[in-house]
Amino acid sequence: MMSAKTKSDSINNYFYQEERRATYKKWIFNDNALCSADKMAEAGFIFTGSLREPDAVACFFCHKHLDGWEATDDPWKEHLNHSKHCEFAKMQTAQENWTLEQWFDLQYKYDENAIRKQCEDAKEDIKKYFNKLRKSYSSAL
Ligand SMILES: [Zn+2]
Repeated sequence: MMSAKTKSDSINNYFYQEERRATYKKWIFNDNALCSADKMAEAGFIFTGSLREPDAVACFFCHKHLDGWEATDDPWKEHLNHSKHCEFAKMQTAQENWTLEQWFDLQYKYDENAIRKQCEDAKEDIKKYFNKLRKSYSSAL
């Protein structure tokens, strides 16, 4: 299922739990912790940690960054607590239990978010160009 996807396919990067799980090469908690690497990946988080922040993660969907984890933290609950509008966090269920409709719905929302972000970036570029143009006009007067 994963082999058709490449890392350059950024829209679908980390959409699947297996892809997120693969980012946890080092994780400070073991499998007995509520926030084990498996559970973190299940709840939408990818590992973004470093030496200084060994437990830093980010949601692939809402991009929320979280660290300061404790072994008794429930990743699904923490996710929703810190990102109430995240459509992924609202699932509160592992992907293996989703219906096909839930998959489609989430994929749709994910793509919608990505396109909205692209449009906002493009708007910023146009704004910058517009201001530059206006400046060059006013200095020419
Ligand atoms: Zn999220």
